[in-house]
Amino acid sequence: MSATRKKLVGILALQGDFEAHEKALKTAGADTLQVRTAQQLDRVDALIIPGGESTTMLKLLGYMNLLEPLRSFAATKPVFGTCAGAILLANKVESPNQESLGIIDMTIERNAYGRQIDSRVAEVDYEGRPFEAVFIRAPIIRKTGPGVRVLAEYQGTPVLIEQGKHLASTFHPELTGDSRVHSLFLSKI
Ligand code: GLN
Repeated sequence: MSATRKKLVGILALQGDFEAHEKALKTAGADTLQVRTAQQLDRVDALIIPGGESTTMLKLLGYMNLLEPLRSFAATKPVFGTCAGAILLANKVESPNQESLGIIDMTIERNAYGRQIDSRVAEVDYEGRPFEAVFIRAPIIRKTGPGVRVLAEYQGTPVLIEQGKHLASTFHPELTGDSRVHSLFLSKI
């Protein structure tokens, strides 16, 4: 019976820091699968798109014919994009403009913290408690649609948002020991 099957969480593993997410998911109590093909995508109940380089990931998604399967996947199952993954989920990408999956109603600007200080660790408030947010050549979410809820902010812009079952963060929650954000994602499955 499907009710007794343990949920399987996929991590898109074409490029970027997918292994750190895999570890964080296991710590949060999930079974995981590295996803590189549409067949593997079919097997999972939710998917994380990790940080890395969104342009490269986009190219690889094209080569692997995964763009359309990912869009259909997101119509029924939760997707969590972190940093480059968040860029891929947006419906509009700036600086420069590039194609994206259009899964979350937001406009996101790549590499938006500037050249010299483009990486940092900052404390953000999440659920009334501090969360250590690691920003690495991070984007900034410039605009969100009415269906988007902001869960955490840094310097007045959203850094963790949800839209229904989907989640996006501009920082890397997989790089700290705090698994609250991964647990939130698991609760959406
Ligand atoms: N700067 C990268 C991009 O634009 C994102 C960086 C990251 O994922 N840490 O795709």
